Amino acid sequence: MPQKTKQTPMMEQYFSIKDQYPDAFLFYRLGDFYELFHDDAIKAAKLLEITLTSRNKNADDPIPMCGVPYHSAKEYIRTLISMGYKVAICEQMEDPKATKGMVKRDVVQVLTPGTYMADSGNESKSNNYLVAVQQQGTQFPFSYVDIGTGELRVTVLDNVDAVITEIQSLSSKEMIVYKVESDIASYIQKRTGVLLSEHDPQKTEEDFTHLKTTIVDEESKAVLDLLVSYLSVTQKRSLSHIQPAVRYEPDQYLKMDTYARRNLELTASIRNQQKAGSLLWLLDRTKTAMGGRKLKQWLEKPLINEAAIKARQDKVSSLLNHYFERMDLNDSLSSVYDLERLVAKVSFGNVNGRDMIQLKTSLSQIPLLKQAIEATEDGIWNRMLRDMNEVPELIELIERSIVEDPPLQITEGNIIKDGYHEKLDEYRDAMRHGKQWIAALQQAERENTGIKTLKIGYNRVFGYYIEVSKANAALLPEGRYDRKQTLANAERFITPELKEKERIILEAEEKSATLEYDLFIQVRDQIKAYSEELQRLARVIAEVDVLQSFAQISEEKHYVRPTVSADSRSIHIEEGRHPVVEEVLGKDQFIANHIEMEEDNDILLITGPNMSGKSTYMRQLALIAIMAQMGCFIPAERASLPIFDQIFTRIGAADDLFSGQSTFMVEMVETNQALQFATERSLILFDEIGRGTATYDGMALAEAILRHLHQANKGKTLFSTHYHELTVLEEELSGLSNVHVGAIEQDGELVFLHKIMKGPADKSYGLHVAKLAGMPDSLIQQAKEILHRLETGAKKEVIHQVAEDTEQISLFGDEDFDLNGKQVLNEVKEIPLENRTPMDIFTQVHAWKQMLNKKK
Ligand code: ATP
Repeated sequence: MPQKTKQTPMMEQYFSIKDQYPDAFLFYRLGDFYELFHDDAIKAAKLLEITLTSRNKNADDPIPMCGVPYHSAKEYIRTLISMGYKVAICEQMEDPKATKGMVKRDVVQVLTPGTYMADSGNESKSNNYLVAVQQQGTQFPFSYVDIGTGELRVTVLDNVDAVITEIQSLSSKEMIVYKVESDIASYIQKRTGVLLSEHDPQKTEEDFTHLKTTIVDEESKAVLDLLVSYLSVTQKRSLSHIQPAVRYEPDQYLKMDTYARRNLELTASIRNQQKAGSLLWLLDRTKTAMGGRKLKQWLEKPLINEAAIKARQDKVSSLLNHYFERMDLNDSLSSVYDLERLVAKVSFGNVNGRDMIQLKTSLSQIPLLKQAIEATEDGIWNRMLRDMNEVPELIELIERSIVEDPPLQITEGNIIKDGYHEKLDEYRDAMRHGKQWIAALQQAERENTGIKTLKIGYNRVFGYYIEVSKANAALLPEGRYDRKQTLANAERFITPELKEKERIILEAEEKSATLEYDLFIQVRDQIKAYSEELQRLARVIAEVDVLQSFAQISEEKHYVRPTVSADSRSIHIEEGRHPVVEEVLGKDQFIANHIEMEEDNDILLITGPNMSGKSTYMRQLALIAIMAQMGCFIPAERASLPIFDQIFTRIGAADDLFSGQSTFMVEMVETNQALQFATERSLILFDEIGRGTATYDGMALAEAILRHLHQANKGKTLFSTHYHELTVLEEELSGLSNVHVGAIEQDGELVFLHKIMKGPADKSYGLHVAKLAGMPDSLIQQAKEILHRLETGAKKEVIHQVAEDTEQISLFGDEDFDLNGKQVLNEVKEIPLENRTPMDIFTQVHAWKQMLNKKK
């Protein structure tokens, strides 16, 4: 800790402020710079790659210091926030010129990863959610807010895993808790990487009771208080744009855990965590930032309510059936700015003239937008149309008050239109007249002195002056001109009349700038009163934008409307395609495949060579299901699908580097998630389970998992494997059937057909794939020999094993005993006899007989 004794008054002030913000970088304003001191400086200099200097360099204990110019501070702050840090902005609260002694300073805002509002660019197409969580016995009241859009939600989650899933699905960067040092908080932090912020709710100046009017339970109210109080304490400004909390249930949406989201590359590719290559990237044809955010929300939370899905599909159909109306709609949407963020800016008080013009432009589009939708003459749009109020009085207000091309600054005038305010017009008149007078004076002075190059100029330091070249200065009559400034080649003078006019002009300029600022604030406050209405409008526009984006992509890529049904458990997809792989390969290159699973067919066991397309086929089904439940059309010729409640995946080698788990451990954790929570309405994708361990271990696990899925979970499962031994399960497990990805050998080369066919693959093709990858012929030859040895060795081992087992268990004759025999034996041991009818027993014995006869 830095020594706090014998500090200068300034450092004393610094410490008294810094003490209140121990977990933030304190940006301490000193003139044109924000300075950082001590540990903050050492750390920030490294993170921001700026020079570390020191204050009192020659003293015994110089103070480490670094600084950033205030006009470019934004970028530095953004960098720190994006790295997961907080920044407290400490401003000078008095004009240093007018203050004797220490200038009063205070923190005006604390910027944090969860409260940061990106101005523009890609970030504005995503929400930034700040979450708060509490523990109440075994339950977890949970709320989240996006300060940029005002969306506030609350729910109560049942367990800590649900909290983690929710944080990850919201991509939150910051979580508010009462106590950071609790096991639960650090467990969540470790699993999600969120920044933990400790907070004790305080009584806030602003009254937030209206945010909780529809919330009845005390736990939810408490977690909302925690969240909103934190916002108030850090933002230190009006939060009037925060919308009343809405209660939600995660069960209303298709659940996908973190692994599934990541594996299916919904919003980012696994390879580089970028949007490119993800489903979001493919589907995003939105025209507005609001639409972009809404699309991401829909993708992260697909629906499970049949009627709601169909309602979205109906609207997509309507837009597809009305091409010209849709084109008009798109045109209008292209001119709509980010209304949600504009409302937030108005409330926050950091709106400028250009934002207001954007608001006006956006609102002016609403009648056209409505017209385009009304032209479809489709009743399904009525509710949305009702919510689209163009707020003509706001258009009129901005039209009347704000100039078309206002400056970025709001303190320097030139924002308010002529004719809006009488007094302002007067000041402007004075300024204009003064300027005309000066132009006339220049002409008169030239004529009087005969100096044609004489000119009247202005600068901020000296004000107005008459300038003549050095050579001409002698021509000026004595006594009338006071010398003001001497330059290399010219002299500058002032006259009493010019001084007087200058006073009038400058006074008018100053007064008009102040008045303009006041008028601007009045307009802003009038707009603020419409926050709720504008937010409602923004919500509808966002939805319309996503629906047109669905229609657009469906048209471009020839997607079809699937039949979705909550009552059915069968899957029929004709000529289905993987939307992203198809996009990358090109439509002609992609081989479409059917996916057929009747009510009672729960498991498809998929075999086939590496690289043949097993993973693609599995992901294809999940992406089609997600798109269908979002209300979008899907890449297929025809399809009917059940509505899934959850999707579980175990695909590919996704090392969870973040939580430091090994590949095989991740594989088992992901698998276990499905085994524990999957229901008969779930979709499960298991890609080569067991590959990460020794062959027999892996195979044993894979078989046991298949049996468990078949007996206990009964969800729709696609299970790909290289263990051909498992394909015999088809004969025993009635809900399991084999399919394989076709490949043929041509002139000793392997050709992938990427076509899914019934039945198991005839053999594995590992060596062929190795050859395809360009491995040396000599190596491949050696591998063939080793394979041969292994296969014959393995046979011997099995014979040996069987002999051993037979000695121990003499229930079966020598030839009869095999792996099926072992299983029958186990089942005999386990079978309960209570409540069994003779018919049950007969059927079971018959099944055992078949099993035993099968292998002979
Ligand atoms: P492995 O067993 O090695 O994991 P895999 O059988 O799961 O392989 P995928 O990763 O699904 O194979 O596919 C390999 C490549 O084959 C893909 O990257 C894609 O380029 C191509 N491919 C897959 N399916 C198709 C298809 N239906 N049509 C055209 N190309 C395809």
